[in-house]
Amino acid sequence: MPDLSAMLEQGPVICAEGYLFECERRGYLQAGAFVPEVVLDHPEVVEGLHREFVHAGSDVVEAFTYYGHRQKLRVIGKEDILEPLNRQALAIAAKVARETGTLLAGNLCNTNVYEPGTPAAGEAGAAFEEQAAWAAEAGADLVIAETFSWLGEALLALEAIQAVGLPAVVTFAVHREGTLRDEPSPAEACRRAEQAGATVVGLNCIRGPRTMLPLLGRIRDAVSCEVAALPVPYRTTEAEPSMQALRDPGRGGAQAFPTALDPFTCTRQELGEFAADALALGVRYLGVCCGAAPHHIRAVAEAAGKTPPASRYSPDMTKHSFLGTDPGIVKAYQEYAGNL
Ligand SMILES: [Zn+2]
Repeated sequence: MPDLSAMLEQGPVICAEGYLFECERRGYLQAGAFVPEVVLDHPEVVEGLHREFVHAGSDVVEAFTYYGHRQKLRVIGKEDILEPLNRQALAIAAKVARETGTLLAGNLCNTNVYEPGTPAAGEAGAAFEEQAAWAAEAGADLVIAETFSWLGEALLALEAIQAVGLPAVVTFAVHREGTLRDEPSPAEACRRAEQAGATVVGLNCIRGPRTMLPLLGRIRDAVSCEVAALPVPYRTTEAEPSMQALRDPGRGGAQAFPTALDPFTCTRQELGEFAADALALGVRYLGVCCGAAPHHIRAVAEAAGKTPPASRYSPDMTKHSFLGTDPGIVKAYQEYAGNL
């Protein structure tokens, strides 16, 4: 059985995420509630996407249970599909992980009802317990608990994962202000999660490469465990540091999140550069979150020195009809390149 800690000892681990956005773009998931009913309605789409991400270099197959918890299903009036949805998502991911020798990850995330000291906090904890138990029953190698803007909620998720005896990756979502809602310092939140038993801690989602990178050094310094970094592939800036903050000048300054982020999409090169910079800081669990496509994942994997199956098709511009330098390229066409 693949083992997260053993794999990290050997080198960087790549984890592709972003299933919600990608299934939405493909027309199999509704933006708004963002509930992954696709795992029941079109399991072949989810399985195919898992395979594409592994082909591109992901070492982890994350079961698509993001926003598949009790609180989200209640919002769409479908609590009755909670257990079938979770079990099916885990079964789809397990099939791909076992066939490809990758890690099978269960997934817990923010409930969007949690507030400290309220009954909702207890309900969040109960939701994590049932999801973590299903992940364990499906034979998960680890559970990813992610996108938490409350440290307290993340610690509840971690507790549920530890109760089923699985390694935990705990990642925080740092919004515009650069803090969590109950802890000013993301680095301190990571330190607390490590202390509470997480195998890997770090950041995912919300921030693009440019505005996530500056936070990583402090996290690396604050903990002794492995650190995770999974930005969104969008060109966030100091002025607009989160994908939710991005305003599109091409659309009169309208908010781009969540369905009009396309003009802000990072190139594969930008993700590769981010991965190289993060690796230089000592971050060894790398991936891409909402908005990720396979070419981004391949760029991250290649920056980490890997050659996934998709690297067979990585660009070789020497053979391009106009831009190439190969002896087989017609000279007149090379000379015309400047007119393209
Ligand atoms: Zn995300």
